[in-house]
Amino acid sequence: MSNSSKKKDEKRIECDVKNCIHNSADCRCTAESIKVGCSDACTCDETACRTFESGADR
Ligand code: SF4
Repeated sequence: MSNSSKKKDEKRIECDVKNCIHNSADCRCTAESIKVGCSDACTCDETACRTFESGADR
């Protein structure tokens, strides 16, 4: 993969879910990819990250 195509695929995902193991100190998602549901959402409040993993036990 060339540098330009790699850069094009990079996304910055800001997330305030601090108790997720994928959340960094500067409130960014470090997961390689994320999945967001639900499939029949009509408002923002009806969506949620399905990649969330609790870091409460860390
Ligand atoms: S996986 Fe989801 S909840 Fe966790 S940091 Fe990434 S976007 Fe936020």
